[in-house]
Amino acid sequence: MNYDIDKYLRQDKLPHIWCPGCGHGTIMGNLVRAIDKAELDPDKTVVVSGIGCSGRATGYMNFDTLHTTHGRAIPFATGIKLANPELNVIVITGDGDGAAIGGNHLIHGARRNIDLTVILMNNHIYGMTSGQFSPMTPTGANATTTPYGNIDQNFDLSALTKASGASFIARGTAFNTRQLIKIFEDGLLHKGFSFIEAISQCPVNYGRRNNIDTAVEMLKWQKEASVNIKKWDKLSEEEKKDKFPTGIIYQENKREYTEMYQEIIDSVQEEA
Ligand code: SF4
Repeated sequence: MNYDIDKYLRQDKLPHIWCPGCGHGTIMGNLVRAIDKAELDPDKTVVVSGIGCSGRATGYMNFDTLHTTHGRAIPFATGIKLANPELNVIVITGDGDGAAIGGNHLIHGARRNIDLTVILMNNHIYGMTSGQFSPMTPTGANATTTPYGNIDQNFDLSALTKASGASFIARGTAFNTRQLIKIFEDGLLHKGFSFIEAISQCPVNYGRRNNIDTAVEMLKWQKEASVNIKKWDKLSEEEKKDKFPTGIIYQENKREYTEMYQEIIDSVQEEA
């Protein structure tokens, strides 16, 4: 399928400043392709980002955009959606921004099942600030702040957001662009809190500290470690080791927050 994505990008802000080989540009490109495929009205679409390499995306996307404070993209997005529920509100965050500093906002956004599409670009590191470990840095991996190997467990963000109440949960990779576009499209069209983890590659601040220092090697890892969810359950525990499922991991239809809020407004106005 051919996409006309130029209109969704601020041409005067290009070229972007992401490092050569970074996965974030691929993920942003796939997001605008999904917006095109989902036929969202650009005049009714708002994109909100936090701080970090992922946060740069709102500078390049030609919508109403907000580049907010560290970890707070979901609260800003929640306010926008509550003020005008007709808007399509997309959040772009990173693993440091969304799972550490904004981790509490992530679980409470999911708990409310408010109609946001949250895309967490997971590059397993704080890239912009030179490579400190994040809650998504794998155990044993090196970072500037774990020079002898990370001893923390990393989060399973799918399980975390499911337990918190999200009604659409998916994971994709920068490698598998076709799958990622489809996941983004489905997440954008889902009514409720959609959480999508997009595995990205940071060859500069993650890869080179962990002996996978080229983007090609990192993309090969994404290809080899990812297993479509349709095949995942058929794998043995041994076969699942060092791999992760991709695709739509969970989806349910349940009541959405702004609709319930509107019912309260309507009932109060009726009584008045
Ligand atoms: S530091 Fe890493 S995540 Fe940030 S732009 Fe460079 S490659 Fe991408």
